Amino acid sequence: MNRPMLIAGNWKMNLDRASATALAEAIAGGVDGQVETVLFPPFVYLDAVRRVLEGTPVAHGGQNMYPADSGAFTGEVSGPMLVDLGCRYVLLGHSERRHVIGESDALVGEKVAAAFAVGLVPVLCVGETLEEREADRTMEVIARQMEAGCQGIGAAEAARMVIAYEPVWAIGTGRTATPEQAQAVHADLRQWLVDRYNADVARQIRIQYGGSVKPSNASDLLSQPDIDGALVGGASLEAGSFLDIVAAGAAVG
Ligand code: PEP
Repeated sequence: MNRPMLIAGNWKMNLDRASATALAEAIAGGVDGQVETVLFPPFVYLDAVRRVLEGTPVAHGGQNMYPADSGAFTGEVSGPMLVDLGCRYVLLGHSERRHVIGESDALVGEKVAAAFAVGLVPVLCVGETLEEREADRTMEVIARQMEAGCQGIGAAEAARMVIAYEPVWAIGTGRTATPEQAQAVHADLRQWLVDRYNADVARQIRIQYGGSVKPSNASDLLSQPDIDGALVGGASLEAGSFLDIVAAGAAVG
């Protein structure tokens, strides 16, 4: 099956209003819609970025959400709020949420269910630390994160979600998994989906790779058979490098 490529830019806690809207404008002006493209700005700039992206092929999403629709959760942002701002996607379980903020696998699972409940497409991020990889525990860790992340999620919903495999040791470090290393984990992840759901679901789910993706390595990574896109951090903060990655996706997709 030919899964549509998805290239996403995770701006993390960067930029200000003027540079966020300028970046969105430059990116929207450089894509032709051939490859599905989505931007994840900081919450406070979502509305400004939404206005810039309106009528363009570039979608936008939230970097996180809380698994309740409303209530006494100071400082949190809900799924319905993201929907209200036109978001289609939400990043969940990003390694910085898990390892810096301390989110548990179970909380990420609650968020995935809450995202589906309001019609958002979760981008469920999974990945091992360097220590876990060196101890040969990569797939054990990912299977645990996937099991918790898919808690209560049926096959029909699962088929719509996106998974981002992001080895923690490759995020923001300049150190990228080789295309072979990434493909091996993506293939294992797809087999996990066959076992947990079925072959159809496994064939449909897009699995992005994330971890120091840049124009110089994008083609080699994106041409792997089980890599269906990229989640890009640092290189998404500059329109030229992000558009080069989108172009690499178009060339192989
Ligand atoms: C990310 O933020 O998900 C990411 C992969 O960052 P970077 O591309 O900077 O490694």
